[in-house]
Amino acid sequence: MEKEKIILTGDRPTGKLHIGHYVGSLRRRVELQDSGLYKKIFIFEADGQALTDNIDNPEKVRQNVIEVALDYLAVGIDPAKSTIFIQSQIPELCELTFYYMDLVTVSRLQRNPTVKTEIQMRNFETSIPVGFFTYPISQAADITAFKATTVPVGEDQEPMLEQAREIVRRFNHIYGETLVEPEILLPDNAACLRLPGTDGKAKMSKSLGNCIYLSDTADEVEKKVKSMYTDPTHIKVSDPGKLEGNTVFTYLDAFCKPEHFERYLPDYPNLDELKAHYTRGGLGDMKVKKFLAAIMQEELGPIRERRKEFAKDIPAIYEMLKKGCETAREAAAQTLDEVRRAMKINYFDDAALIEEQAKRFAE
Ligand code: ATP
Ligand code: MG
Repeated sequence: MEKEKIILTGDRPTGKLHIGHYVGSLRRRVELQDSGLYKKIFIFEADGQALTDNIDNPEKVRQNVIEVALDYLAVGIDPAKSTIFIQSQIPELCELTFYYMDLVTVSRLQRNPTVKTEIQMRNFETSIPVGFFTYPISQAADITAFKATTVPVGEDQEPMLEQAREIVRRFNHIYGETLVEPEILLPDNAACLRLPGTDGKAKMSKSLGNCIYLSDTADEVEKKVKSMYTDPTHIKVSDPGKLEGNTVFTYLDAFCKPEHFERYLPDYPNLDELKAHYTRGGLGDMKVKKFLAAIMQEELGPIRERRKEFAKDIPAIYEMLKKGCETAREAAAQTLDEVRRAMKINYFDDAALIEEQAKRFAE
């Protein structure tokens, strides 16, 4: 059977990638990439989108483009199987955005709950950059330019996907079947939908500084886990502890596998028993944190090592990105041609049009 499905997903180069990205999206991407079930896979760095709220800090974006590329390679994204590219190098995306803008109303954009939260987080108040406000439209261009069927992302991206689907439906309704409606692919583990920060805040986010980065040293990981937010009412070891909102347990839900108990905590058969003991009382935070730290080191150690290896040849990474941009640009240009044709703005490549007009004026 011919493979039909196309993946597109990406990240903003606003910082190094963290374990929220890892469990929410990166880990899954590598599995999907290696499954061989997809016709094409596009992974991109949304530097244009990163600039919408960092317009006065272009150096930050520039520095992080290479950091994110290193993170990709370190987790196992393989340029031989996945096209890695940079958004700003594909001007076709801007053109698509320009046309899609007419298919979306201002009030529709104002209802986007993720954008609303992000505006608050950034204290924009009434000075919201238009580019930031409209980034869901540009994201629809990113997705549709590559005819993506499948977009593996975290839960915060749900409203963006809904917006993209609406644009596709509206476009196809007006101009005829042209664009492909994408589907979101969320993590199947609830703890991974939106990994909280080490401070217990709702989302680990580069912009909030509550992250464990994939590139953190073993010492940094150890320190961050040891100072993580747990249950503030769990003071003495004998106190009963709460699991809800307890970041250490959320991370265990995201990372812990049965074999970790054999290796690092053989007193307990599984996570349910560990949770039960904590809830009952008699289990201290430090013991649970030590267990989590051991798991994190096991998972992050190989990534950190691979990252160091790739960092030895930075020019090769730029070369890889450049090739990725070329491949991506071809795909986007193809879609843009189809869009222009559907929208009847392909004046010069349509011999029939010229003939028709000539005839009309000859009459
Ligand atoms: P910024 O603060 O600059 O927006 P970010 O940390 O939110 O950065 P993005 O580049 O916006 O990261 O998101 C990249 C991808 O990672 C998206 O698919 C998003 O859903 C996912 N993601 C980001 N943070 C988390 C998280 N804490 N848990 C699960 N998935 C996440
Ligand atoms: Mg974000």
